[in-house]
Amino acid sequence: MTEVFNFSAGPAMMPKEVLQRVQAELLDWESLGTSVMEVSHRGANFMALAKRSIEDLRKLFNVPENYQILFAQGGARGQFAAIPMNLLSENGKALYLTSGHWSGAAAKEARLFGDIDEINILTEQDGKTGVKELDFSDIADQYDYVHYCPNETISGVEIFDVPNVGNTTLIADMSSNILSRPIDISKFGMIYAGAQKNMGPAGITLIIIRDDLIGKARRSTPSVWNYQILRDHDSMFNTPPTFAWYLCSLVFENLLANGGLESVELKNRAKAELLYQYIDQSPFYRNNIAEANRSLMNVTFTTGNDELNAKFVSEANAAGLRALKGHKVLGGMRASIYNAMPIAGVEALIAFMDKFAQENQ
Ligand SMILES: *Cc1c(COP(=O)(O)O)cnc(C)c1O
Repeated sequence: MTEVFNFSAGPAMMPKEVLQRVQAELLDWESLGTSVMEVSHRGANFMALAKRSIEDLRKLFNVPENYQILFAQGGARGQFAAIPMNLLSENGKALYLTSGHWSGAAAKEARLFGDIDEINILTEQDGKTGVKELDFSDIADQYDYVHYCPNETISGVEIFDVPNVGNTTLIADMSSNILSRPIDISKFGMIYAGAQKNMGPAGITLIIIRDDLIGKARRSTPSVWNYQILRDHDSMFNTPPTFAWYLCSLVFENLLANGGLESVELKNRAKAELLYQYIDQSPFYRNNIAEANRSLMNVTFTTGNDELNAKFVSEANAAGLRALKGHKVLGGMRASIYNAMPIAGVEALIAFMDKFAQENQ
């Protein structure tokens, strides 16, 4: 069998060592004679796992003491609704900075709950999409919070500078770049991420939130999404997705064992640089994102011809390079190269791209 590299944007590939460990302990977890998914979340073993996972994540991601780590269900889209329910006051306003599909979807959902202002922060220059300077300190104080998405998974636009919102609460949807590099969490009021891109399988959502933002929810907020109730019940108000939580805990352990986020950032930068450099020197492929905003996680490219793009995706798939088709709203190709993608996967992709270009000039 040819080696398969999975470039799926999400659910995405998991570290092989993690899957091998799951396989090895699936039928008999911690000598209980059962799998982890068959035991009570309130039993000693699972409670210890939950505690350990939070301690590991705190260490790995350098989460300050005055921030809570919560796990919820409903994905990032669930949080699109939970955020205004928890943090937008009845007569308040929130500002949504939009830079693509997901930040736009978050703003649209928030409108169900109140008064939302939206600012498109994208720029177009010489056919390249970029992001404006992000200083909103002069207008931010009229808002309960400012929301943005630092990595637009579909277009491959990443925002490396943290927007300046003065003393206003900044909220980030980090679904597709969480744990890809160290960040200064103290600049944010809250960050959140669906697990299925860079942390684990679908079904669990991470929320990291500053203590003072907990306890402001509207009365009508569903209890499962009320941050105070989640905190007071250690993210176990309802039965948590235990198997997904377990997988996330193994991913955290794996990252810590491999040098933490500094080390993963170096690898991620090396992978992305290799791929963008190849695209830039090739007359056959094009990436349409301004250099300063090129995503380290989702690399989009096109031949400029729909038929050739379709042929590329199909032949790449046959060669073991999976899920390279771009999102349907954008077309072209997208290589998602999250933490779990080894550099060998990027090298195999580049070798294939080169061969395909020569055959289809
Ligand atoms: C995938 C993704 C989402 C949607 O996540 P769900 O868990 O399916 O709700 C939202 N935001 C970003 C940035 C994403 O990449």
